[in-house]
Amino acid sequence: MTRGIPDNIIEEIRQGSDLVEVVGEYLSLERRGKNMVGLCPFHGEKTPSFTVSPDKQLYHCFGCGASGNVFSFIMQMDNLTFPEAAKFLAGRSGVRIPEQKGPSPAGDDLKTKIYRLNNLAAKYYVYCLHNTDQGKMALEYLYKRGIEQATIENFMIGFAPSKWSGFFNFARKKGADTELLVQSGLVSPGREKGYYDRFRGRIMFPIFDISGKVAGFGGRLLNGEEKQGPKYLNSPQTPVFDKGTILYGMNLAREWIRREKMAIVMEGYTDVITAYQAGIKNAVASLGTSLTNNQARNLRSQVDTVITAYDSDSAGEAATWRGLGILQSTGCLVQVAELPAGSDPDDFIRANGKEAFLEIIQNAQPLTEYRLMQLKKRYDLYSDRDRRAYTEELADILQTAVNHIEQNYYLKKAAEELGVDEDALRSELKRRRHRKNRYREEGNREVPENNHKINIKPAEKILISLMLQSKEIAKQGRNDLQLDFIEDERVKEIIRLIFKHAEEDENISVDKVIDQFEDPPTINLITEAVTDPALQDLPPQTAKRMTEDCINKLYKIWAKRKQVELQKKLKELEQQGSKEQIEELLREHQDLLKRKENNPCQLEKGGDFNG
Ligand SMILES: [Zn+2]
Repeated sequence: MTRGIPDNIIEEIRQGSDLVEVVGEYLSLERRGKNMVGLCPFHGEKTPSFTVSPDKQLYHCFGCGASGNVFSFIMQMDNLTFPEAAKFLAGRSGVRIPEQKGPSPAGDDLKTKIYRLNNLAAKYYVYCLHNTDQGKMALEYLYKRGIEQATIENFMIGFAPSKWSGFFNFARKKGADTELLVQSGLVSPGREKGYYDRFRGRIMFPIFDISGKVAGFGGRLLNGEEKQGPKYLNSPQTPVFDKGTILYGMNLAREWIRREKMAIVMEGYTDVITAYQAGIKNAVASLGTSLTNNQARNLRSQVDTVITAYDSDSAGEAATWRGLGILQSTGCLVQVAELPAGSDPDDFIRANGKEAFLEIIQNAQPLTEYRLMQLKKRYDLYSDRDRRAYTEELADILQTAVNHIEQNYYLKKAAEELGVDEDALRSELKRRRHRKNRYREEGNREVPENNHKINIKPAEKILISLMLQSKEIAKQGRNDLQLDFIEDERVKEIIRLIFKHAEEDENISVDKVIDQFEDPPTINLITEAVTDPALQDLPPQTAKRMTEDCINKLYKIWAKRKQVELQKKLKELEQQGSKEQIEELLREHQDLLKRKENNPCQLEKGGDFNG
């Protein structure tokens, strides 16, 4: 059993989930030799260093070190626990996971509980939309806005009644934990006492994560209820909801984005819903105009071309440009579609239909070009003062250009328009270059998150690699290597697992070992060890000899450490301890020295492997 799912089922899921295929659903892969490569979805990069091995069914990123197998890929990509990832892959490959009897499996952590609560809330809101008087008003409003029944169902749109604790009481009756309700952001503790619903008198839009789970909510006030707070209200940050990472609608749009090879980024969920209903299905919303690093990275891992269709009044804001600059710096081709003044995609599509909107999308301009055009509109190029200000801003914009070719192209064009020397303009640009673009750096920062170091010795890594590649070596290791020799707890855990397989005389499976761990650093370590090119397909004799060397090396390190410890203890005891204690310790010391003469592997001289 691996966390509540029988091993044979895990195996079946694995067989049905080809890593290349699964990864291919998230990013584009190209063949390179024996492997497939693509842009790493876990860190921002412009040249592919994310490598998938079809033979080994493992991936590894040479940029950030992310690695693992098909289960860990889904876990990292979609922020899932192991059982959740297994369930997702089972669904994808048509494997049925038998129902668990008794209490739910160990994967039932805080996140799972919050997801479950969110799901309960979504259903409650849907019920209230259709079955309460106020809800029916909300439904009328949705219909009036042209949102059809099928769309309402598709996006699970609901209604939160304007009661103080409607959902709270409902959830408590269903057995939900009060503390958990607060952590989910659906309920807040009252100032004096009791609890109240965060969302009241609002049309509710569940915000789905990429795998379609309800991560949070957006609530829009029903008309005429303006006293109840802001028009739009989102869930607060929770363990499953991070506004800066989620792209609304990606769960539905992903497939279409890949098909159209283009994503349209809008501002709000109503934009995406209206677009989807009109048949424009490759649209997502950034839940605000300023794209974050994480959102940019998510987009980049799906697609090369992104067209933004923001509300016309947001298009001029600095935050918008900053977000798009981040996106462009990930290597995306960014284009800007311009909507008529005062409109957003929601209004526009409802008023003018799909074709008119697609025409606007078709006429989108590259980010740099669009910005320069906007810039020119703001300045009078015949006025000296304006020209100077214009040049400064021009330099800023050109710095975020996709590459030098683009930069030079616009530079030339601008020089012509301004009637100035191209070189003069270029040196102005250079002068400003030292003020390196902050967001460009942010966008490129390679942050392998959650990568606290495991203290592993080279000899241990070699052992793990060799033992995972051969049952014989694993047995040899189990006979000669004592777990005491290993210092780091996580390394010890890995080796203990390998020994367990060797003991049961099973064929060693890298996958099975990896599946036992959820933390990326450990998974990385195992994957890295087993894919180390220097340790592939060694002749059995060489592998055996290396194993001996490594074990002896680890033994020596251990013995030395032990000796130091003993000596320290002896010194302490000499000052205050009893005679018997000292004698016992001395005996231990003698034993250690004797054993040190004989290596555990009875190694012949001079076989010190580099460890
Ligand atoms: Zn990476």
